Amino acid sequence: MGKKGRAIIVGGSVAGLSCAHALIQAGCDVVVLEKVRRPSGSATGAGLGLDPQSCRFLSHWLGDPNLLVRSTLPLNIDQNQATDSHNRITMPIARDEKFNFRAVYWNDLHGLLYNALPSETVLWGHQFLAFQPAHDKNSVKIQARIVESGNTVEIVGDLLVAADGSMSIIRHLLLPDCKLRYSGYCAWRGVLDFSEAEFSQTMKGIQKAYPDLGNCLYFDITLGSHCVLYELQNKRLNWLWYINQPEPELKGGSLTMSISSEMLKNMHAEAEKVWVPELAEVMKVTADPFINVIYDCDPLPKLQWDNVVLVGDAAHPTSPHGLRSTNMSIVDAGTLGQCIGKYGISNLSTALKEYEKYRLPVVSQQVLHSRKLGRLKQGLDYKGHGRNLHWKDASREDCLGLLQRNMPFFAGAPSPADSEALPLMMT
Ligand SMILES: Cc1cc2nc3c(=O)[nH]c(=O)nc-3n(C[C@H](O)[C@H](O)[C@H](O)COP(=O)(O)OP(=O)(O)OC[C@H]3O[C@@H](n4cnc5c(N)ncnc54)[C@H](O)[C@@H]3O)c2cc1C
Repeated sequence: MGKKGRAIIVGGSVAGLSCAHALIQAGCDVVVLEKVRRPSGSATGAGLGLDPQSCRFLSHWLGDPNLLVRSTLPLNIDQNQATDSHNRITMPIARDEKFNFRAVYWNDLHGLLYNALPSETVLWGHQFLAFQPAHDKNSVKIQARIVESGNTVEIVGDLLVAADGSMSIIRHLLLPDCKLRYSGYCAWRGVLDFSEAEFSQTMKGIQKAYPDLGNCLYFDITLGSHCVLYELQNKRLNWLWYINQPEPELKGGSLTMSISSEMLKNMHAEAEKVWVPELAEVMKVTADPFINVIYDCDPLPKLQWDNVVLVGDAAHPTSPHGLRSTNMSIVDAGTLGQCIGKYGISNLSTALKEYEKYRLPVVSQQVLHSRKLGRLKQGLDYKGHGRNLHWKDASREDCLGLLQRNMPFFAGAPSPADSEALPLMMT
C-alpha cells in the first residue's frame, strides 16, 4: 500500500469541505483551515442550484442520497420570461422542462457537508497566512494565525489545496497579475421565509403569477435588467435582482454589502415600476435583503504548481448566471479526489496535472459562457449583441440561447472516473 499523504485545505466553504470528502475517500489525511471562528448560523447565505453531476458527487460523499433529496427542491423547469414593465405583465420566451437541477439553501448544503466529515477535520478560526514548498518539492509548510489568540502555527503537508474563494490569497501569491473583473452590475438578493405566511395575499399572488414555483427556475428579463426567482425547501423563496451600476467601493474585503433603509426604500419603489406587482411585493416583504457585487475573472493559465492546487472560486471566480460556482467547486473536488485516488500521493505531480487537464478547459468555457449570459440579460454589449435588446421582441433563436442547457458541458464534465459508476441518485 502506498503512502497515505496529508492534504492541507485552506477554506471551509463548499469547495473546501467537498475536497475534504473527496480526499479522505482518496485515502489522504485531511485538515481544513477556515478563518471563520465557527460553523455558520442558520441565516447564512441564500439559494443555489445543484446540477445532476454535483448531486451524484454529494450523494456519494454523504453516504445517504435521501439526505440531499430531503434538503432540496426539484428545479425541473428553466423558464425565461420577458417583463413588459409598462403593462406589468410577463411573457414566456424560452422554457426547458428537462432541466433536472435541485434548489438548495447554501447553509443547508454547507451543514450537510460539514456534519458528514469526521470531527476535528476543520480547524475553525485559523487564518492562512503564507506557504513555502520544501526544497525537494515533496512537501509544503503553511503558516496560519489562530484568530482567537493571535498565535501563529505551522503545519506541514504533502498537498496544499487553495479553496479560499474568489479573493484567494494563495492564487494571488501564485499569479499576482490575475485580477478580478467587475461585471458592471450588482445583485440585490433576499430569501423570503413564508413559513408563517403560507396563506397570505403575497403568497397567493406569487403562486398564481408563477405557478411552477417549487419546480421551476424563473428568470424575468426586462430592458437592461433581470431577476431570478425560485423556491427552497422549508418554505422559502429565493430572489435576485441584477442592477447595472458603477463599481461600488468594497469594505473589509467582502463582496457582500448590507443595505441602508434609504436604499431599501428606493429599491422597493423601483421594483414597483419595473417588475410585475407580485414579484415587487415579495421583494418588499423580504426581511434583510443584501447586495452581492458581481465579479468574475478571465480564465487562469493553470490550476496547479508542484504540490499546490486551486479549486472552487479560487480557481475560477465566475458570475452567477450559469449556476456554476458551487457546481464547479463540487466537480473540482470530485475530480481532484479521483486523480489522487488513481495515481496516489507519491505521484502527486501526475495527479495534479491530470486534474488540470480535465478541469481547466471546462471551467474556462463555463466562466466565459456565464459572463456572456449576464451581459446579454443586463443589456450590456456582448460582441455586438445585447445592447438595448428588448427580449419581448427578440428572435426565437436569441431567446432559446438564454436557456441553461447551452452551458458548455451542461450534460456533465468529463472526469477520470467516467467509466467507473458513481452511485446514481434521484430518478
Ligand atoms: C458564508 C457564505 C455564504 C454563501 N452563500 C451563497 C449563496 O447563498 N448562494 C450562492 O450561490 N453562493 C453562496 N456563497 C458562495 C459559494 O459558496 C461559492 O461561490 C461557491 O460555492 C464556491 O465556493 P468556494 O468554497 O470556492 O468559495 P467561498 O464560498 O467563497 O469560500 C471561501 C472560504 O475560504 C475562507 N477563507 C478565505 N481566506 C481564508 C484564509 N486566509 N484562511 C482561512 N480561510 C479563508 C472563507 O472564509 C470562506 O469560507 C456563499 C459563500 C459563503 C462563504
